[in-house]
Amino acid sequence: MQFISTRGGMQPQPFSETLLEGLAPDGGLAVPAEMPTVDAETLERWRALTYPQLATEVIGLFATDIPREDLARMTEAAYAPFPGDVVPLRTIGGGLTLVGLSEGPTLAFKDMAMQFLGQVLEYTLERTGSVLNILGATSGDTGSAAEHALRGKERVAVFMLSPQGRMSAFQRAQMFSLDDENVHNIAVEGVFDDCQNLVKHLAGDLAFKRAQNLGAVNSINLARITAQVVYYFWAWLRATDADGATEVSFTVPSGNFGNILSGFFAKQMGLPIRRLVLAANENNVLDEFFRTGIYRPRNAAQTLATSSPSMDISKASNLERFIFELVDRDPERVVGAWRDLDEQGYVDFAADQPRFVEEFGIVSGTSTHADRLETIRAVYAESQEIIDPHTADGVKVAHQHVEEGVPMLVLETAKPQKFAETIIEAIGVELDYSKDLRDMLGAPQHVVEMADDEHALRAFIEQHALR
Ligand SMILES: *Cc1c(COP(=O)(O)O)cnc(C)c1O
Repeated sequence: MQFISTRGGMQPQPFSETLLEGLAPDGGLAVPAEMPTVDAETLERWRALTYPQLATEVIGLFATDIPREDLARMTEAAYAPFPGDVVPLRTIGGGLTLVGLSEGPTLAFKDMAMQFLGQVLEYTLERTGSVLNILGATSGDTGSAAEHALRGKERVAVFMLSPQGRMSAFQRAQMFSLDDENVHNIAVEGVFDDCQNLVKHLAGDLAFKRAQNLGAVNSINLARITAQVVYYFWAWLRATDADGATEVSFTVPSGNFGNILSGFFAKQMGLPIRRLVLAANENNVLDEFFRTGIYRPRNAAQTLATSSPSMDISKASNLERFIFELVDRDPERVVGAWRDLDEQGYVDFAADQPRFVEEFGIVSGTSTHADRLETIRAVYAESQEIIDPHTADGVKVAHQHVEEGVPMLVLETAKPQKFAETIIEAIGVELDYSKDLRDMLGAPQHVVEMADDEHALRAFIEQHALR
């Protein structure tokens, strides 16, 4: 299996080569040269597998350059920190089932992919005898998932920028309580965009990037997308009968279009998915796109701070991988679309919009703060289940797309403990915290405060980077 760029300017590469760079050298994104397919017989055979075994099978279709037994060892290690059978399904009434993706160390679905990425990064670095310094910016969930997946690794260090004073107490504790030598938390005087700009500047300085072995594990990372495909298969296998391939639909609380893109991959691979329902919050640039065919990214000032903060995006970095399929894998048309965007501020796929549903099965909807509160309340009243605000966005939009005879699976993207304030606002309930979480919240914090200053950051990395 080889990977090519959505913009046509990359030599085909195997899986391992795409790990460190989400972005292809031509500015495009890596995609499978040909999507692997799974037939009905294979699907049936997969029913008996544990989650790590299934992950080995599914990821193995993409990572054909990694020996099976090595992959099996990595998936076992990646999902060992998860309790039970890794991804539990539970019904919440109204014809909906939650797919529990937030059982990992940081209580959000990003652990599902990041834990695997941590394993495969260390593995490839060992084989090539090299080291990697991950530089990233986070407003919360990504940074902590990356740090928890990479902590203590010998060949990887993490430099994670976050906006000073703008994360919740829980998010701060989750990152800053780590005392591993290879984890560097840097709180920048500024907002998330300032952090991201610093990262872009340094990563754009190719000489510095090479000298310091810099890499990224952001949401366009292909290994993350691939690892996320697994739970769509897992959930389908749990929600359908052994003797008849019924279809299911998935609702996905979305931001950067990473999670739902993995569902799109699964559907293209032949998994019988009827609808992929994209749930947006008030920052509904993607809902607008799927309803109208017009993609109009917003700027930072037009991006609202909401109570489902991990979905507060202005543009969706993974959308290019969907557009690549939409234009029948024609790189020229991908480049043309972005040229239109530069020139007129939007891309117009209105003529193709009917295909979004008919050919790709994607529909969408928007949920607001009031919807979140109401949904958290209703789910609690009906099933005593407390859901987080992002999952609530999903549940709210899912209700609009339930179809008779088609199970509707809503991806639970975080645990409510991460967003206690909104839970109190919705139902007035103080959540229970496990002893581990209480210890984490009270632990000493390790963070370096820094001005929004590229030179200071360069100096810090030069001093602390692995080499
Ligand atoms: C990252 C995140 C999302 C959005 O996922 P994308 O892959 O960016 O679409 C939704 N909910 C939570 C809790 C997240 O952390």
